[in-house]
Amino acid sequence: MSLPEAFTERLEKIVPREQFESIIRTFDAPKRVTFRFNPLKTSPEELEAELAQEGIAYERVGWDILSGVYRINPEDKLRLTQSAAFYEGRLYIQNLSSMVAPVLLAPRPEETILDLAAAPGGKTLMLAGMMENTGWLSAVELQRERFFRLCDNLKHQGVTNAHTYMTDGRSVGKKCPLMFDRILLDAPCSSEARFKTHEPKSMSYWSVHKVKETSKLQRRLLLSAFDALKPGGKLLYSTCSFSPEENESPLQHLLERHGEHLKTIPLTLPFDNVQKPLTRWGKEIYDERIQNAVRILPTDTIDGFFICLLEKLE
Ligand code: SAM
Repeated sequence: MSLPEAFTERLEKIVPREQFESIIRTFDAPKRVTFRFNPLKTSPEELEAELAQEGIAYERVGWDILSGVYRINPEDKLRLTQSAAFYEGRLYIQNLSSMVAPVLLAPRPEETILDLAAAPGGKTLMLAGMMENTGWLSAVELQRERFFRLCDNLKHQGVTNAHTYMTDGRSVGKKCPLMFDRILLDAPCSSEARFKTHEPKSMSYWSVHKVKETSKLQRRLLLSAFDALKPGGKLLYSTCSFSPEENESPLQHLLERHGEHLKTIPLTLPFDNVQKPLTRWGKEIYDERIQNAVRILPTDTIDGFFICLLEKLE
């Protein structure tokens, strides 16, 4: 199945012209599989020894910002998912762009952290690991089925500092104002970066109308997250969509309401397939501070993603 025409037309206006064709090709091929060690259950050395014993050929992803990250070919995935390390939660399969978000938010042990749209929990698990299972980690998820999947994942991976809430993230800012040191809002999105031409279901719900509806939800979640943040606290906003309505626009909306109380933080990523945010889209002209965010462009290993880190001023 081919990509939706309206999607490719829009994408052409978003990504750099010279990379458009190669980006389009990334939707066709299966991605290389990446995974990381679970610091709550093992160390990189122990996991590597275990994988070697099971005959699983891995390649280290040599990142300064995070150790114990590995890559395998798609055809070896079944072998990995049949390993004891996978069954017993000593590793977690996750795309590299998803790993970057918790690393940039950089929670510390003993802090009070909120993950406002948490299921299935890949990033919550990382936050817990970085907090060394200390402090207070609230994980919020609205959808019932996904909420229980989140709870199962946290238990399976040995997380003990998380408090899970099946509730609407839009209400959290009012219920818990100024409460959290750091907040992750990995927002519900139209998941454009997860489209796969060999999986028609991945794009069957997409439409420009859906993108605009999702944008409204993202704006409200972002305002709620900002209300829940302590002065001096950090908030990371991310999506796995390309659409500016889901990325630059919610940030613009937040800046129009609270611009004098926040700053954005420049980001350094461990790879170079990134692009600066757009300065305008349609009739909207975006605040200069949004330029500190990054749009990650997809490759054969890395999914597309958008990340903005901001700080609430004291
Ligand atoms: N951070 C997760 C991870 O890495 O595994 C993925 C989060 S996913 C992009 C967004 C989640 O937000 C979905 O599970 C969705 O059900 C949930 N969601 C949607 N609307 C919500 C709302 N109003 N409040 C809280 N969660 C919501």
